[in-house]
Amino acid sequence: MNIRTSPRYRLLQVFVSEKGVFEVYVNLRSKVYCCTCPGYRARSWCKHCEAVGEKFLASGGSYNVPVSPDAEPLDDDIMCDPVRFREWIIHNAKVEVL
Ligand SMILES: [Zn+2]
Repeated sequence: MNIRTSPRYRLLQVFVSEKGVFEVYVNLRSKVYCCTCPGYRARSWCKHCEAVGEKFLASGGSYNVPVSPDAEPLDDDIMCDPVRFREWIIHNAKVEVL
């Protein structure tokens, strides 16, 4: 399965760290987070998933993706398409350093 194109997952947040660029996805059905970093592959959990989970709880059960002020509008067509949604996040959402 390719998490980047699977209809069951959506990219939530892109992180930059000294080890590279990593992407945290959420499983739309189980709400479980997945990350592309090596730590996640080893332990099925990582600091990126933890950061996303903390933000989710702090906002009362929704993840508000931080976007740039001139972000392109997000419509249903994009939301329903994992590949287009990933591109939208990469182009419009703020990258966090962690
Ligand atoms: Zn990670």
